[in-house]
Amino acid sequence: MAARGLRRAGPLGISALALLVLVIVLALVAPLIWQQRADAINAAEILRGPSGAHPAGTDLLGRDIFARVLVATRLSVGLALLATVLGVTAGLLVGATTAVLGRRAGRWIGTLINITVAFPNLLLALFFAVIFGVGAKGAVLAIGFATAPGFARITQTLASGVAGRDFIAAARIAGVGRFRILTRHVLPNIAEPLVVTATIAMGGAMLAFASLSFLGLGVQAPSYDWGRLLGEGLQQIYIHPAGALIPGLAVVLAAMAFNLSGEVVARAIGLRSTSTGTLGDPPPPAPSDPMPEADALLAVHNLQVSFPGVRPVRGVSLSLRRGEAVGIVGESGSGKSLTALAIARLIEPPGEVTADRLEFLGEDLRGDVSAHRRLLGTSLAMVFQDPMTSLNPVQRVGRQLAEVVRTHQRADRRTAWARAVDRLSAVRIADAAKRAGQLPHEFSGGMRQRAMIGMGVMANPALVIADEPTTALDVTVQKQVLQLLQNIRSAENVGLLFISHDVTVVGQVCERVLVMYAGRIVEDLPASALREHARHPYTRALVAAVPDMETDRNLPLAVIPGRPPDPRDLPVGCAFAARCPLATDRCREEDPPLDSLETGRRVACWHAEQTVPHLSLIKGEQS
Ligand code: SF4
Repeated sequence: MAARGLRRAGPLGISALALLVLVIVLALVAPLIWQQRADAINAAEILRGPSGAHPAGTDLLGRDIFARVLVATRLSVGLALLATVLGVTAGLLVGATTAVLGRRAGRWIGTLINITVAFPNLLLALFFAVIFGVGAKGAVLAIGFATAPGFARITQTLASGVAGRDFIAAARIAGVGRFRILTRHVLPNIAEPLVVTATIAMGGAMLAFASLSFLGLGVQAPSYDWGRLLGEGLQQIYIHPAGALIPGLAVVLAAMAFNLSGEVVARAIGLRSTSTGTLGDPPPPAPSDPMPEADALLAVHNLQVSFPGVRPVRGVSLSLRRGEAVGIVGESGSGKSLTALAIARLIEPPGEVTADRLEFLGEDLRGDVSAHRRLLGTSLAMVFQDPMTSLNPVQRVGRQLAEVVRTHQRADRRTAWARAVDRLSAVRIADAAKRAGQLPHEFSGGMRQRAMIGMGVMANPALVIADEPTTALDVTVQKQVLQLLQNIRSAENVGLLFISHDVTVVGQVCERVLVMYAGRIVEDLPASALREHARHPYTRALVAAVPDMETDRNLPLAVIPGRPPDPRDLPVGCAFAARCPLATDRCREEDPPLDSLETGRRVACWHAEQTVPHLSLIKGEQS
């Protein structure tokens, strides 16, 4: 791996790394070897030019400038290192704090960071140098504080990038606290780019330190660093320029060594250094279906999700009993995943969730989410689409599973680990004890998804919400994962809310299917009625678009013509009208309510009674 990294670094990278090693070695050994020679005053050799005995000449006291430059490596590198450590630590703390604090405080700190980042580093260093006073200590503090804002900004940006990943959502749904999420999940995942950035920042700190010493604000006599030697040499530059050139060259080369090495490391590990529209139609009146059943495990009525300028979920009502499997199906952007996230209370501001009723196990989930964290963490499990982003890549799988029971049941390490191994076996991961000690990248895609399901059932949930759990898997593995979900549901009487764009899969897994279009449920029907007795033209088109044994293979695959409407600009009337072969003037003027049919099914269509053969819906696309 190291050899591959070196190959990727190329000749320039290898030279930079060699130079860096040389600088570090010099910092360690130069004072031991050349200190005496560097400090030896010789009145007979004052201001001599370069010679065999003195390669860079001598200074005003006849001291060997080359030996002084070599000896100054330790102080120059050491002080710059101290300043970098200080700046990086302060920046890391401030940047990470924004992720831990509430949204408002985080925004204030973010604004402060942005203001300070707007000033050039050296200007900030000079400002702080005046505050902290002249001398090496003041310069270290000044450069440290000047480095901190940039590092805080990078930490903040990287942390917010990781914060959107599924494994963070999974940790939140498991009730893991903010500080623990930060230390266990966020920081380990941004450590690599931070280390690289710190290496590059070291080069900048070295230049800044040399500048302060050159200006007389840094290291004071009798101590000396490269900046100070540069200042002394500059006074004699017309007598012999080497006295200024050699310390200047040392600063540039050392700063380059750190900067380029940082870039080399970044490349080796695959990194690079670094509206308000109008809302759509007002929500339709709350669906006219009866309120969800009293004994429902999950009862949702008139759920709305809105973001500034858009309302992607508009009045969803559903209920789900223990052990029941309900599917939500629809194209991308239909609002199905947002519905699931809203139920799990995972929609973050500026998103807003409202509902007339949102109850899970009899508890009203509306209001402050922290009040429901324990219930959601123990009784609700989420399984996301991409198992790779759902698991923390730098934490062992067993530890991630164990965290659930450690957080909620205060289980000790050993008990939590045993439970994790047990759950991994329950989701049919062979040699679970060994696998628990491995990292997610050592698992196959199917194993990762099964591990995620294992994590979901760590705390005996009453409801599993699976959001496209098989989309990223191949067909064989898909079947295994679906079978596993079915087994867990029947064996442990767990409710399943299954989200998918694939109407066939939903039909196989679920007892009841909710079809969503443009943020609304447009049909609610038993899975057994899906293929032959769907009433809504959109449901029928979805079914017809899936080839079956009778599909003529000589014809192109059927597709639903057109695209779903933009949620920011929904049409008046039925949102499906532009794609619907049955659309009439009434459809284009009035949005049909979700009516309960006599059979207990629900459908939102003015012409639901009109029967149309599947293929005629999309005939134009087939011919
Ligand atoms: S209401 Fe009209 S446009 Fe909408 S799905 Fe029914 S028939 Fe088609």
